Amino acid sequence: MRLVNQLSCLLGRHTPDRGQARHDLDYWWSTCKSCGTVLVRDPIKGWRVPTTQEMENHDRKAAGRAG
Ligand SMILES: [Zn+2]
Repeated sequence: MRLVNQLSCLLGRHTPDRGQARHDLDYWWSTCKSCGTVLVRDPIKGWRVPTTQEMENHDRKAAGRAG
């Protein structure tokens, strides 16, 4: 029953899948185990949903590494 976890997600408390976490030279990135939302580990606040700008920077770094 995932309802409890999803309720946490609605409240902004996602559950990062640490086994899937990856470092992009600046931050650790992962996804929520319950809802699949992309998460970034803020050095101060802990895991949180990234901003659009952070997502773009992350995508750019990922693209630079590919190939
Ligand atoms: Zn979630």
